[in-house]
Amino acid sequence: MNYYSLNNKQHKVSFQEAVIQGLASDKGLYFPENIPTLPQSFFDEIESLSNEEIAFQVIQHFIGDEIPETELQQIIAETLCFDFPCVEVEPNVYSLELYHGPTMAFKDVGARFMSRCLGYFNRNDDKKVTVLVATSGDTGGAVASGFLGVKGVDVVILYPSGKVSDIQERQLTTLGQNIKALEVNGVFDDCQDMVKRAFLDETLAHKNLTSANSINIARWLPQMFYFFFAYKQLKNHNKSLVVSCPSGNFGNICAGILAKRMGLPIEHFVASTNANDTVPQFLVDGIYHAKPSVPTISNAMDVGNPSNFVRIQEMYNNDLNEFKKDFSSFTYTDDETRFAMKNIYINSGYIAEPHGAVGYLGLKHELQNHHNSIGVFLETAHPVKFLDVVEPVLNIQLPIPTQIESVLNKEKVSLKISTYDDLKAFLS
Ligand SMILES: *Cc1c(COP(=O)(O)O)cnc(C)c1O
Repeated sequence: MNYYSLNNKQHKVSFQEAVIQGLASDKGLYFPENIPTLPQSFFDEIESLSNEEIAFQVIQHFIGDEIPETELQQIIAETLCFDFPCVEVEPNVYSLELYHGPTMAFKDVGARFMSRCLGYFNRNDDKKVTVLVATSGDTGGAVASGFLGVKGVDVVILYPSGKVSDIQERQLTTLGQNIKALEVNGVFDDCQDMVKRAFLDETLAHKNLTSANSINIARWLPQMFYFFFAYKQLKNHNKSLVVSCPSGNFGNICAGILAKRMGLPIEHFVASTNANDTVPQFLVDGIYHAKPSVPTISNAMDVGNPSNFVRIQEMYNNDLNEFKKDFSSFTYTDDETRFAMKNIYINSGYIAEPHGAVGYLGLKHELQNHHNSIGVFLETAHPVKFLDVVEPVLNIQLPIPTQIESVLNKEKVSLKISTYDDLKAFLS
């Protein structure tokens, strides 16, 4: 499969090149040259397929013969080494828990898949790359863990100083080996701007820089799997599905829309955001106005200019009316989020962390227009990842899972930087 740059359809590269480059040289995001549709038989028998079989059938089209079948199956097996349960929270409202992986963040899937693709491309030691990634919270830990020890890949993670939780910070600063953490004096958008600038900096070309944000197709595409897994678990209800994604950079929801394009029967998508409301505003007035990000309690979604939104617009040919038929987007304040967390807990005993709670709010709102549907919100992180919010709001104490406990006593190692020149000096 070839991928074109969203800035220039003539600019086409292979899957391998798109993964290694991350962003096209003209700054465009890569997009698949065509979107395959899956046969009806696949959906008819999906409940009899394992998650690994589903994933293979879905992603194989996007890779073609660039990774042989057995290697791809191996990559998928190593990526999907945990469960994705759909848990009933209220009648017709389900939480799809994406947080049972090694760092308890949904980004584990994308990070593990991408690292292993790069490992495969570097199998002859000739494609050494440096993965440069900006994180607003969870990406860093998932990338650090997913890439740890992968041959031929160095990882440099930029995160905003003081704006990620203690557990998140430890997950990305304590692993050592091929993983380095840079603590940036600024907000997430500053980190992302530095990363984007480094990719375009010709004096760094020899470092073979690539991204591990959802800009990178190998991080973005495997997120489609979640939506197929939700469908597999809820299909027997024979009701249409409404899915709400707590959204920041809009990679996850964009993958969901791609899954729908492949034939997955999802009736409606909701992009639920915190106070960073660029997309909800766009749906109201049709003006896309990127803004600086504002800090919230769901900090992994503190994004003022979501990178993947252009990919979504591409799928709708920039037709706002068509887009609105499939898609809604709502914004919620921190107080509304805390209130939802409390209500969910009181009414059903379910512990939702702030991102999941934002997703829940958007879902409940949209379900008012879909009386015969089942709703799913994606729970994108384990509550323990947002301990400092969850414990006081719910007035409970959470047990620390073993995955997390293992990093708590390790020593943080990071380098503080303030400017792009600091980053450049570090890389060169
Ligand atoms: C990254 C992240 C999100 C947002 O996902 P996008 O694909 O960037 O929209 C939501 N919740 C958590 C916990 C995250 O880490």
